[in-house]
Amino acid sequence: MKVTEHISRADKTLFSFEILPPVKGKSIESIFNLLDPLMEFKPSFITVTDHRSEQIFKRKSDGSFDRIDIRKRPGTVGICAALMNHYKVDAVPHLICGGFSNDETENALIDLNFLGIDNVLALRGDPPKNEKYFTAHPNGHNYAIDLIKQIEKLNKGIYEEEEIQEGVKTDFCIGVAGYPEKHYESPNPDLDVMYLKKKIDAGAEYVTTQMFFDNSKYHAFVKKCRETQIDVPVIPGLKPITSKKQLSGIPSIFHVDIPNDLAMEMMKCKNEKDTEIVGEEWLLMQVKDLIAAGVPVIHFYTLGKPHIVYNVMKKVL
Ligand code: FAD
Repeated sequence: MKVTEHISRADKTLFSFEILPPVKGKSIESIFNLLDPLMEFKPSFITVTDHRSEQIFKRKSDGSFDRIDIRKRPGTVGICAALMNHYKVDAVPHLICGGFSNDETENALIDLNFLGIDNVLALRGDPPKNEKYFTAHPNGHNYAIDLIKQIEKLNKGIYEEEEIQEGVKTDFCIGVAGYPEKHYESPNPDLDVMYLKKKIDAGAEYVTTQMFFDNSKYHAFVKKCRETQIDVPVIPGLKPITSKKQLSGIPSIFHVDIPNDLAMEMMKCKNEKDTEIVGEEWLLMQVKDLIAAGVPVIHFYTLGKPHIVYNVMKKVL
């Protein structure tokens, strides 16, 4: 079922989780072990991140180097199919532009359609680790909006391969990313929301936000969206913060602020157990406020600390 159908049928706040494909060489059991306890809460859907290849340099016998592309976390499409099969839950693959040609994207979309997956979260992706600026694949997309346009064309039966006449029409429900604290490259929040509006006008049907730790930023963002005639659901994304290291790590990776109250409480902690308690209480407070505000779905960036999400869910359900 489409994410938008889940939302329109619900009379209360729904929940969803995000997972990463395991690194190459690892089994899917790690995903099942992470999700098994959380399935008790009947998530409406589970999203699976997508990862571009990274370039590594391998020394050759003559001392020179070969530049090699490796994808450390392949398998987004396969994991979605496995989740649907294993848990009978809707899976939402993330699809990024970075590192992929339009033909490769089309092939991934065809696979998703064959598998009966009718949701896609359309994203641009970040630059590779060793590069500062995003550059598109020579035959790929510069912005998420271009990917949305490609998916929308496929929804009309228009394929990249021009010879295909009367191709089957897909029926993907497209979600996009939004940034309550603005995307780090954007000159200002107004311009960022203007581009978000363009993504919605191009066919996206809901927004999932970057993580935030101060709910007032989410509420202000939704208000700004509504003032900009963005009327689709805006799903808040939440991540548990559980260690002092994350106080500087999260802002530098995700370009979001940690509220002073939370940072100060964390700094007082003497050990990891205490920092987890502070992080869990903060997450619980955020969740309760968002439920009270009647948000359509709360999306958890489950990642490394599923037990924190579990404990919070136990307290709110
Ligand atoms: P875009 O919407 O293309 O925006 C990128 C920047 O360009 C913004 O500053 C925007 O304001 C600006 N912009 C947009 N359109 C235009 C235009 N037409 N002209 C000029 N400027 C424009 N990354 C991954 O690699 N894999 C994932 O699985 C993944 N999942 C994510 C899930 C969520 C919910 C979120 C919030 C982010 C995720 N990301 C993921 C990170 C994301 O790829 C990065 O934040 C990326 O830098 C931007 O992606 P986007 O889709 O928001 O880009």
